[in-house]
Amino acid sequence: MRGLQGGRTRPATVGAMDDPLVAPPADLLVLSGSDCRDLLDLDELRTALAQALQAHSDGETDVPPRIAARIGNAFLGAMPGNVAGVGLASKLVSVFPDNHGGPTPSHQGLIALFDQSNGSPLAIMDGAYITAIRTAASAALAADLAARTDARTLAILGAGVQGHAHARTFASIREWTDIRVASRTNANAVALATTIDGATVEASFEDAVRDADVVALCTNAASPIIDHSWLAPGAHISSVGVGREIDETTMRSADRVIVEWRGAATNAPPAGSYELQDIQPDAVVEVGEILAGRATARDGAEQLTVYKSTGHAVEDIAAAVLVHRRALATGAGVRVRI
Ligand code: NDP
Repeated sequence: MRGLQGGRTRPATVGAMDDPLVAPPADLLVLSGSDCRDLLDLDELRTALAQALQAHSDGETDVPPRIAARIGNAFLGAMPGNVAGVGLASKLVSVFPDNHGGPTPSHQGLIALFDQSNGSPLAIMDGAYITAIRTAASAALAADLAARTDARTLAILGAGVQGHAHARTFASIREWTDIRVASRTNANAVALATTIDGATVEASFEDAVRDADVVALCTNAASPIIDHSWLAPGAHISSVGVGREIDETTMRSADRVIVEWRGAATNAPPAGSYELQDIQPDAVVEVGEILAGRATARDGAEQLTVYKSTGHAVEDIAAAVLVHRRALATGAGVRVRI
């Protein structure tokens, strides 16, 4: 830019402390994946997830559909959200399916938590553990609402991170007498089964699903891994995979299709779900609507209920706020001056 006399202008020398372009220094709390794991109590998480999902259904949240930048068969997604009176945060989640089987998990991420009163960054935390556990805990919450109260047989299909997380969060929702595990790679099913008291490994998905009361689908399959003809009357099917785990007949004949948010049916993937693209949005019910008493999860012992998850930012916020609160109380984490 030219000055009035035609010469170059020079920026005045401004110290960083006085520079209006530089935010005043603040402490940012940095929390690792193991911090998150140690700080997050699963009972508290369940309550916080229920409150957040109900807040969403009550219109007390602002959550735009997830956006993602694709890179080959992988993507980096952004999931911002605000839950009134609870938390303001955004997760960046990378999903690299080809990492599966190696030392790096297929889902990694960061969650940044901000002050709701003035927008200041409060904390940044690893997103892998929170993603894993909040997904499985939300599925368990939905299953607790929708599965028959006398459900005793649980089938877990898929023995990756979600299979392990589901084993933890589904353990307490019913008094299981029969837990079956199956996975595409049998050795992974065996490894998961050793972590669950009394669990058996089934050679096929069909063997695991036949007569099961609750079927938890936890795979990255791109085409259905169950068939409606395998399902017992009154079964509850839970699916968290981002591909297409549930067959069309099951989707069409379900008496109840339960979602975290109705947008799962109205948005194309990666925000919405493949299985819900042909389902009318008013034919699904939100977990929060059930919790608020405006919808029922099941109206009879013979009904087939389905929970289809896409993941939702309010779940990350619910978990991140709990982690942050406990970190402040215990002094966990590392403070970085930014
Ligand atoms: P992992 O990479 O840890 O595990 C992948 C799982 O998928 C393994 O059990 C693998 O079986 C199985 N699998 C992969 N391809 C196939 C196939 N073609 N047929 C059958 N099984 C298959 O992933 P996660 O456990 O972390 O995630 C599982 C799914 O859940 C993914 O689709 C993921 O994107 C989704 N997810 C959804 C979330 C949500 O909020 N709804 C949050 C986090 C994850 P094996 O190893 O035995 O071969």
